[in-house]
Parts: sequence; C-alpha cells; structure tokens
Amino acid sequence: MKDLKVSARFVKGVGPSRLNILNRLGIETIQDLLYCFPRRHEDRSRIKKVEEIRPWNFETIKVKVLTFGERVSKKGMNIFQVAVGDSTGVIHATWFNQPYMKDKFKIGQELVLYGKVERYIYLQINNPEYEILTGTKEDFVHIGRIVPIYPLTENLNQRWFRNIMKFTVDNYVDEIVDILPFEMRKRNNLMILKEAVRNIHFPSSDIVLKNAKERIIFDEFLILLTGIALKRTSIKIDLTGYSHKLEGDLIQKFKKSLAFQLTKSQLKVISEIEEDMKSQKPMNRLLQGDVGSGKTIVALYGLMLTVQNGYQGALMAPTEILAEQHYRNINEMVKSLGVKVLLLSGDLKEEERSRRRHMIEIGEADIVIGTHALIQEGVNFKKLGLAVIDEQHKFGVMQRALLKAKSENPDILVMTATPIPRTLALTVYGDMDVSIIDELPPGRGETKTLYFEEKNREKAYKLAEGEIKIGRQAYIVYPIIDESEKSDLRAAIKMHKDLSVSFPDLKIGLLHGRMKSKEKEDIMHDFKDRKIDMLVSTIVVEVGVDVSNASVMIVEHAERFGLSQLHQLRGRIGRGKHLSYCILVSEPKSDDAKHRISAMLKTQDGFKIAEEDLEIRGPGEFFGTKQHGLPELKIANIIRDKEILEIAKTEAFDLIRRDRFLRLPENRLIRDNLLSKFSKEDLALASVG
Ligand code: ADP
Ligand code: MG
Repeated sequence: MKDLKVSARFVKGVGPSRLNILNRLGIETIQDLLYCFPRRHEDRSRIKKVEEIRPWNFETIKVKVLTFGERVSKKGMNIFQVAVGDSTGVIHATWFNQPYMKDKFKIGQELVLYGKVERYIYLQINNPEYEILTGTKEDFVHIGRIVPIYPLTENLNQRWFRNIMKFTVDNYVDEIVDILPFEMRKRNNLMILKEAVRNIHFPSSDIVLKNAKERIIFDEFLILLTGIALKRTSIKIDLTGYSHKLEGDLIQKFKKSLAFQLTKSQLKVISEIEEDMKSQKPMNRLLQGDVGSGKTIVALYGLMLTVQNGYQGALMAPTEILAEQHYRNINEMVKSLGVKVLLLSGDLKEEERSRRRHMIEIGEADIVIGTHALIQEGVNFKKLGLAVIDEQHKFGVMQRALLKAKSENPDILVMTATPIPRTLALTVYGDMDVSIIDELPPGRGETKTLYFEEKNREKAYKLAEGEIKIGRQAYIVYPIIDESEKSDLRAAIKMHKDLSVSFPDLKIGLLHGRMKSKEKEDIMHDFKDRKIDMLVSTIVVEVGVDVSNASVMIVEHAERFGLSQLHQLRGRIGRGKHLSYCILVSEPKSDDAKHRISAMLKTQDGFKIAEEDLEIRGPGEFFGTKQHGLPELKIANIIRDKEILEIAKTEAFDLIRRDRFLRLPENRLIRDNLLSKFSKEDLALASVG
C-alpha cells in the first residue's frame, strides 16, 4: 500500500524547483495534490471537422501537421505557425513568442488541438492546447475529454500541472480510504470516495462529474456540521451562568417610558431573550434584523433586565461614531430611571479613562457602552450579566471571546444586519440560538434606489440639493479619504471642497476615519441637529448611524464597495416618514461589480442581499469562516448546495446522537478528519484522546 502522506516530489515531473512552487501553493504531499480540486472544467470532448468550426468559438479538432515555419513580426514578435488539416479543410495553429514550439512537431504527425478560433485571412487558432497522438495512447489528458482547469497562479502552467495531476491520480487514487461508514454512503447514494476524487479531476462524463462533486461536497458539509454539532453539544453540557428575574419595577417603568410601540417581531425576540436570561444556562443568541429594524431597543431591554437584577450590562459597537450614538440615545432614554450609562471609547485622556474604568470596577456604571476599548486589559466589571455585541460581523471571534471573558459566563447577545436564512444561520453559527426581526417599524417612507452613470453625477448632487431645500439632509460617500497619485478616484476631502464651492448656500460637513474622536462626534451631533445639510463622508457611516431626517444617500464609485456595505449605506436613509433616495454613481467594469449594483437595484430585502453577497464572495469571505473557527469549504457552496447541506446536517446530528465521541470503528476516520480541522477543545473530544 502506498502512503499518501509522502512528499509530492515522488510525482513524475516534480523536481526541486517545481516542488518549491507547489509548497507555496500549500501542497506538500501526494494527498494535498489529490485534494487540490479543479476550479472548473472545460468540455473539450467533442472533436470537430475543420469545416465545422466557427470563428470566436472554442473548438477541438483532430488534424495532421502539413507544414510549419516561423517568422518575426514588425514589432519583433516571434510567430510560429503550423498548417494543419483534415479531409475537410486546412487551418493555421499559431504560437506567439514561443519559439521552442518548433521542436515539438513533425510533418505528418497527428494532433488534437483546442483553442479559440479567430478569423484573419484564414481561420486561425491561437496558442492552442495541443496533444500529439502517438497512435497507441487513448487516454487524453489535455484535450479530447472534459478537462480540469486548476486554480493556479501565473507561475504554474495548466498543462504541466495537469500532467502531474494525471500521474498522481493514475498512481495513487486507489489508495484513498473511504471516510464514510458504508451505511451512510449507501443511504445517500454517494459515489465511493476514490472514484469521486478520480472523477473530479478527470471525469469520464458530465454525469459522473456531477456525482463526484456531490460526494466531495457531502464530505465537506458532513465534517463541518459534525464539528458544529459537537460544539453545540459541548456547550449545552457544562456551563452555568446567571439566572435573571424577569419582573421588577425598573423594567416596568422602562416599558412605560418607550416613545413607540414595539413591533410584533421585536416583542417576540424580547420574549426569546427573556427565556434565555431567566435560565441558568448562559444565553448565546444571535439577533438578525435588517438595517433599521430596531435591534437596539431589543438589546436595551436585555440590558435593563440585567441592571434590574443587580448586574452590569455592556454594549460593544465597531466604530466610535456608533458607540457614541448608542451612548447618547440610551442615556437619554434611561437616565431618568436612575440608570448610570457610561461611554468607554478609544481616545480618552489617561486620567479620564482610569476614572471611568474605576467606575466600571466598583459597579458605579450600570450600562457600559464602547468600542473594542471595552475588551482591553484593565477594564474589569464588577459583575457583568449581559454582553451585547452590535454589528457582530465587524468583530472577530477573539474579540467576542474577550468580552465574554470579562465575567463568568455572562449572557451574550450578538446582533447583525447581514441576516441569512434561519436554517443557514443555525448551520453556520451552529453554536448559537437565532432570533430574527423580520419587519420594519411602521410609518417609514419608501426608499428608491437609482443608478447614475459617472457623467450624470451632477444630477445626483442636484437631487440632493432639492431634497435639502424641502428640509431633508443628505450623505455623500466616497471610497477614499485623500486623493492619491495611484488612482483617479474622487476623494472625500477634495469633494468636500468642490461641493462647498458648487453649493455655497448649503452647509456641507466632512467626516472620515482619520479625524479625532471629538471632531467626529461634533460633526455627527451637528448633522443630527441639522446644522449640517450635506455630509461628505467615507465608509465610517456604514453601520448603525441613525439620523431619520436624512433622505438622500449618494454613493460615488459604488463599484468599490461590497454588497453588504452598499446595503448598510442605504440603511442610513429611509428611517423617517419621507420618501428617500439611494443613488449609486458608478461605472462598474467587473462582472462582480455589475452583479452587486444590479442586486441593489433589484431588492431592498437584507436577507436577499446577504444571499447574493454570499453568492458573489463565497462563504469563506462572507462569514470570515476562519474567524468563526470553522474549516474552509473547498468546493461546497452553502447557498448553491443547500440541498446537500440539509442532508449532511441530518446525518451529522444523527451521527453524534448515536456515537457522541465517535468511538465506533466505522466512525473513526470521520473523527480523525474532524480533529485535523477543528481544535480538540472545541469538539470536546479530548476525553477519548
Ligand atoms: P437597527 O436594527 O438598524 O440597529 P435601530 O435600532 O437603530 O435599527 O432603529 C432604527 C430606528 O427605529 C431608531 O430611530 C429607533 O428609535 C426606531 N425604532 C425602533 N423600534 C421602533 C418601533 N417599534 N417603532 C418606531 N420606531 C422604532
Ligand atoms: Mg444598529
């Protein structure tokens, strides 16, 4: 039996320098090679006659070498041309700047060529993939079949990589041991693992390729979900936290003091939070709700509950602007109830910082609001009962863990405005319970999303001016703060000047991340108090900012922003009763950028936006899977493959129910696989060594 863990240098065609390149791609062993899957496949299996092929198509032909020769173009380029033909016609195969090609061919040889057909005077096929037929070899590698295309850097040539992969698959794939128990494989009608690996590289047909992918995708999901199932189980077993009393004076008064009626969704989530907080088990809950759906008040309800029970509450926000806004609003709402709210942000003077830290330590502060300054060393709570993390996707796992560590198993509520469907959330955030706010508070005006080409951007400014004249306010967002020589993007500082000249009657403010906290605060206050009509800004206003009189959001160079960012920016407006406008000014070039803009025009539903975003960016980037401590998915796609995901999920949870520590011999390989991808502590598998 051959060992798959041996170095990739045992593959024919891999010398020391190539090995180096492979290593840089993260490929050390034969096993790594086998699991380096193609990015896509190209169907080069249909071989055509020369008379059948058409310009601009990618075609495969089987031909004889008639004659060849090289010349040098006027610009000094080496052009090597082979005239080839079959019984129906002749065509030129041309290679540019590859003079060594002339040693490859002999007159009379049989070739298979694949490439894009161009029409000059003759039909011509440029830099084609080629395979020289020896007469005996039936097993085509590069053409005449469905061909794998690998995710390579420029340094590596597909042809070379495909050759070593063919060798690896031919010589080693039979050594792969199936990780799935026989029953599970049968039940779900899955291909044997080694056949799946063989065929994901060199499929014998479309259908076989599809089945091979399904098998590999299933495995990826199964490992992911078994890991999540174990995490979940291990959390449920151990911890004891605080049990909150739900009734009391303070919470009664707080409810009465609210200026509006809570929506049905908000009430439902509040009761879910109450159940959790009542229980001895620490709450670990994710609250999803679209921008503007009113998550803050729900969080505040929880914070007030914890204060009523004699504990402290913390609310962590990703930006100073947002922390400051939360502080202002929350303090306004609860100070008359005798609740002490304290702000802890980044750039306080040392003396003031220690004073505030001291207040936290002795329990003088009931609700502490801040940025990541909250989790810094030296911040010690007297008794933290509930920690809320706003806009959780802006934080990493570490930061969440640190806040949690400020107390013994406090209740945790994390909030996000990039919501995903519930089943998906349960899967991806498998160790959390999920609540969803799925309606907006009543009385909101409609938001229109418009797309303006660059040349029409003056019209966008005019529209903003018009709105301002009837009493509204506007944001204009730029991708960069300062102009730079490298790019010709318009920048916030310069545009603030330009717009101030163009619209002398308007009060135009500037806000960006390089300003001091105090300056940012003042600008935001002025905007909120309508002392500023038009706020020229960078992405710093992305999350959470709540100014209900603003009705225009212009995003310049919209192609530079991610889809979730654009949706968040749009969420800054439409918070009042007025009609609002989100104007995307852009000249999108890439397909992804076009896709993002059209998604924005198509829908305002945060759930749909998140799905599209996931589609565009893939789960790794979208969730920052690394941040979640989840293994990376190589080919499985949570959205596209959701049916397989469901099946794998059922199997994973069943598996853990039947064999909690994966001790049974048939589950051994799944266990090994898990341990290579998750940490032992996470899985609580440590006990079985
Ligand atoms: P997000 O979910 O984006 O964090 P916020 O909590 O900032 O939303 O709420 C947006 C605005 O809606 C705030 O001004 C808030 O006071 C208001 N709001 C929240 N709940 C309600 C409600 N039930 N009725 C009316 N307005 C509400
Ligand atoms: Mg918010």
